Amino acid sequence: MDKVLRAEALMTKGFMPPDEGDALYLAACSACKALPQLPIVEVGTYCGRSTVWLGAAARKFRTNVFAVDHHFGSEENQQGWEWFDESLVDSASGRLNTLPSLVDTLRRSRLTDVVIPVVGESKVISSQWSKQVAMCFIDGGHGDEPVKDDYLGWAPKVAINGFLAIHDVFADPKHGGQAPFKYIYSAAIDSGEFIELSATGSLRVLQRIEKFNLNS
Ligand code: SAH
Ligand code: MG
Repeated sequence: MDKVLRAEALMTKGFMPPDEGDALYLAACSACKALPQLPIVEVGTYCGRSTVWLGAAARKFRTNVFAVDHHFGSEENQQGWEWFDESLVDSASGRLNTLPSLVDTLRRSRLTDVVIPVVGESKVISSQWSKQVAMCFIDGGHGDEPVKDDYLGWAPKVAINGFLAIHDVFADPKHGGQAPFKYIYSAAIDSGEFIELSATGSLRVLQRIEKFNLNS
């Protein structure tokens, strides 16, 4: 991967560990190579940390990343919670707003022509989204409802042979919340439409396969 872009990713605020970011980049390259011209969708961008790894792959394969986030932060990013960062609060509204940081990250990394922020509620955007995607990376809200909505809304957009990458997958409740494991990872595997390609930390990369019907 481009060294300058990797350094930019590591400089960006966020939650993507370096080894998982590198695995995300490799997965994105392989999906974009297999499905030329189709875009990548990221759900849950925050300040754009994971987005830079995805953007590096999209730049290499001349495609785009659509980075979906309402930019108000998840539950755990709010005041009083574990992952609250006061410097991201907008002084006028008193509310968290990560969009200015994302715009800074994209300018600094020179990815403004590659990564297109899509600002809004993931469920609304997925419901209006008709294009197939080479890869969808889900790292948005981690409560049961947003996770179920992200699976139902975005998994069907992944093209055959395309990838569904999921962050914060913990099979053991001792290590973290169960929603992405139950309602995305396990749901996708149990559907028979996805197979697992790789696991790095809490990142799982699945591939969409042609579903065959034993009765036909
Ligand atoms: N991928 C980022 C971390 C994402 S944190 C990184 O590498 O650092 C999760 C993000 O999901 C937050 O920015 C939050 O605003 C967004 N989010 C949570 N629920 C959402 C929803 N329903 N629609 C859109 N964005 C959502
Ligand atoms: Mg995450």
